[in-house]
Parts: sequence; structure tokens; C-alpha cells
Amino acid sequence: MYDWVTHMHTHLGGRCSHECSYCYVQRGRAQLSEKYKGPIRLLEHEFQVNYGEGKTIFIEHMNDMFAPGVKDPWVAAILNHCFQYPKNKYVFQTKNAPRLKEFRFDVFPDCLVGTTIESNRDYSEISKAVRPYDRYQGMMSLGRVKKFVTIEPILDFDVETMVEWLEDLKPEFVNIGADSKKSGLPEPSKEKIVRLVRALQAAKIPIWKKINLERIVGDTFNASA
Ligand code: SF4
Repeated sequence: MYDWVTHMHTHLGGRCSHECSYCYVQRGRAQLSEKYKGPIRLLEHEFQVNYGEGKTIFIEHMNDMFAPGVKDPWVAAILNHCFQYPKNKYVFQTKNAPRLKEFRFDVFPDCLVGTTIESNRDYSEISKAVRPYDRYQGMMSLGRVKKFVTIEPILDFDVETMVEWLEDLKPEFVNIGADSKKSGLPEPSKEKIVRLVRALQAAKIPIWKKINLERIVGDTFNASA
């Protein structure tokens, strides 16, 4: 998870319908939990949680609250729970970015809305989520809201297209990380990642790199920092 969030919370039980092959929820200790098995469902008791204030809270870190199958009233109820505690920053992230425009985020004093674009290429064998192009278009259709993009776990990509999309989106920052679960993913070369990072730096798009990226790029960025 991100080291810039202070808290995480989930109102949804059941298995995320995107079924990404690298899903962390289906690995390790989380896979032992009945909570994240079976059909998607709303966990009513989770609405009792008092979010307090002064936190940066990642909402639905074990699922995708905008995935198909998560009913509109459920999404509205989750957003409303957050809205009851306006003195926090909320982080909403989805691979189903085309659905984001159906909801209001501008009512939050502080929130970040992000999508995962592991690559510009389609990898339907890795995830059932909508195509990366549709995620890019979904984010483009969002109004005035702070956006971020996470390229994690990074998959082999085309540098020019990725840079074009990210320049269009003008995110607050881009998170870049690699697979840390030995999922056997098609990964880009070190050279491609370096070209991407250099291009984003030239475009003045802040980049938050995960330490696990060093498995592919070594200490390239540390050495040139
Ligand atoms: S979108 Fe996230 S929670 Fe859903 S299957 Fe993919 S990795 Fe897992």
C-alpha cells in the first residue's frame, strides 16, 4: 500500500470482480479471510466507524468500490460516510474509471481520485478490468478534482503513449512500482522505465517511486538524484 496514506478502510466484502492475476487480496494472510470471498456485499457495521480528523484514508483498499457489481446506492453510502468526516483527506482509486463521472467528488474539502494504468497496452489475460485506454478516457472526463495515476505493478508499455496520456491527465503525481509478489508479469526493460521517468520529469509531473522498482532499474535513479 502507499506510504503516504495514514489509514485504510473497507465497507465491502467479497471478491473484487476485476480478478487481477497479481491481486494482493488473494495472496498471503488476506486470502485466508472469509471477508474477501464470495459475492460483493456491503458490510453495514463498517459504517459505524468514526473517521475522526487529520487522516489520509484510502477507502476500499481490498476491493474496487466502482467496479461493476458495486451498486450505485452502495457507492453513494460509502461516499456519504466519508463526507460525514470532512476534516480528512480521502483517497479513492479504481480501475473502472469511466464510472467515476457518475459521482460527485468536488463536495469533499480534500480528496484524491486515482486510477491504475499499469500499461497502455491491453492485458485482458491479467485483469478483467476495462482497458487502460478506457481508464485514461474515464479520468479525462472527470471534472475539477485532484487526480493521481498509479503505474503498479508496471507492465511492458509504449513510452510515447504513456507519456501522452499522463501529460493529458495532468495528475498531481504518478506512483510507479513493480510487482513484488513474483506474479510472472510481462515487465518493461530498465531502459523503458528510465525513458518514462525522464519524460515525466521533463513534463514536471511529480513521480513517487516505490522501492520495489529497484528490482528492475537498480540504483539508476538514486545514482542520478
Ligand atoms: S482491482 Fe485491486 S482489489 Fe480488484 S482484483 Fe485487481 S488488484 Fe485486486
